[in-house]
Amino acid sequence: MVSLRAAGGLCAARATVLRPSSTDELATLLADACRAGKKLTLIGSQRSFGEHFLPVAGARGVALTGLGGDVTPLEGADGDAWVRVPGAFSFEALCRALPGYVPFHPPTGDRISVGGALAACSHDAVDFLATDVRAFRLLAPNGRVYACARGKPGLEGELFELVPGSFGALGAILDVELRLRRIAPGECAEVRVLERCPTPGYAVVERLEQCYQAKEYPLGRGLFLFGRRGPSVLLGDRIVVARPGERARPLLLLDDATERNIVAQALANRWPLPAHRLQPFVFKPDRRFRADLYAFSFYQRSYDRAYTYLSSARAFPRVLRALGVDPWLGVCHQTWVIPVAERRAFLDLYFEVFDEFVDLESRIEQQDMIRLPPCPWPLHGAYGMPDGAFLLTVSLSVQRGQDSEQRARAFFAEVSRRAYAERGVPVLLLKQAHVDDALLRSMHHGYIERLTRVKAEVDPKGVLGSRLLTRLGIG
Ligand SMILES: Cc1cc2nc3c(=O)[nH]c(=O)nc-3n(C[C@H](O)[C@H](O)[C@H](O)COP(=O)(O)OP(=O)(O)OC[C@H]3O[C@@H](n4cnc5c(N)ncnc54)[C@H](O)[C@@H]3O)c2cc1C
Repeated sequence: MVSLRAAGGLCAARATVLRPSSTDELATLLADACRAGKKLTLIGSQRSFGEHFLPVAGARGVALTGLGGDVTPLEGADGDAWVRVPGAFSFEALCRALPGYVPFHPPTGDRISVGGALAACSHDAVDFLATDVRAFRLLAPNGRVYACARGKPGLEGELFELVPGSFGALGAILDVELRLRRIAPGECAEVRVLERCPTPGYAVVERLEQCYQAKEYPLGRGLFLFGRRGPSVLLGDRIVVARPGERARPLLLLDDATERNIVAQALANRWPLPAHRLQPFVFKPDRRFRADLYAFSFYQRSYDRAYTYLSSARAFPRVLRALGVDPWLGVCHQTWVIPVAERRAFLDLYFEVFDEFVDLESRIEQQDMIRLPPCPWPLHGAYGMPDGAFLLTVSLSVQRGQDSEQRARAFFAEVSRRAYAERGVPVLLLKQAHVDDALLRSMHHGYIERLTRVKAEVDPKGVLGSRLLTRLGIG
């Protein structure tokens, strides 16, 4: 038995974890489980914040990271490249294998696996990772390997659409054909402060909408809300070519000072209020920051490495722990999927509920909002929202098992209850879901129906599950 703990430290389990080292071994494990009526949970890089890779009691985990394989370059066009990458490869391993290229819309941690990100239908601040996937192979519990491709007729075409967001319920993604962006000489990311203004009135939200409609700042656009109706900041990102000798202003988290960034994140987690109050002063209107494109794309990579450093026996991490830093950087972390027309009403509601939880204001680590296009992926929470969606993600610094966790959970649950009842706003399954199971099922009834139908074909014995899928009544 080993301990498994999700990112953000709140969700944990103990389970036996099997570690196949080849696709054949994995196929045998799945076949044995089918015969014996056992339950398995697929495990990627364990970067989920929720219960996605945690087995239910009595089930076993299957770690996919030992499956091996190589990155295969395929034909490219217009300078970009298509590659076939093993699903268990991290984005870090992929980019090391092909220097000078980055994925178009990856999640912000580089140690997340490509298969895990696709299974979660992950996104960046502009679009979904799956937008730049044209094919993948899926090993299903029924023993078949499906060559899923965009636009393919039949089950393989259906699986192409339904695997993103299926959270390991349909099979293991063995490899993925992914388009990469070529980084031309001198190209780097420029992050520009477009707005800094008070949150009330939501001028900053409207400016984000304008940027989205005008397709401005195509590399990234996102806003940060500080405090309960405090200031708001909108950032817009684009690619620029740095002139030789040009000095650029760096930005914390975007540079390569990993240990310093981990320490900054640890202090912000331990004392969120001062950190939160300082940030609007860094983001002065029209300020510009630069970063290389890998660092920009994976700006949370220090968070990815934080536990290893903060739990180590080295002197400084020991001091930090003595000061009360939790190596897991405990957070209550949830995302709401907001139909475009509901953006102001939802924010009104969010702050109205927040007024009943004023004690949590000092625990805000981050409140960010992005604008995504219409979602073609049926198992994503934004599917069926014709104009696309805003996503509000809130991270509150909490201590696991303490009052702070209970309060934060209660706050998120109340926002979720009211937001769904009054505005039709669901919680995104990709993050933690602090709502009761009945409400979660009601929010995601379309998801449950679509996933259950296709699962009956590829996993008829219901071998693959997880604590999250069980909450949804699947598996
Ligand atoms: C620092 C950090 C930054 C992040 N940034 C973003 C972000 O910007 N955008 C975003 O959308 N998300 C983000 N996430 C969330 C992350 O993208 C997802 O949680 C992702 O699913 C984690 O993948 P993983 O490889 O760690 O897999 P795990 O967490 O181990 O598993 C995730 C799910 O995928 C399934 N799975 C894993 N591998 C496979 C496979 N090969 N085949 C089939 N199913 C599989 C598992 O069963 C599980 O349900 C971030 C997380 C962290 C820790």
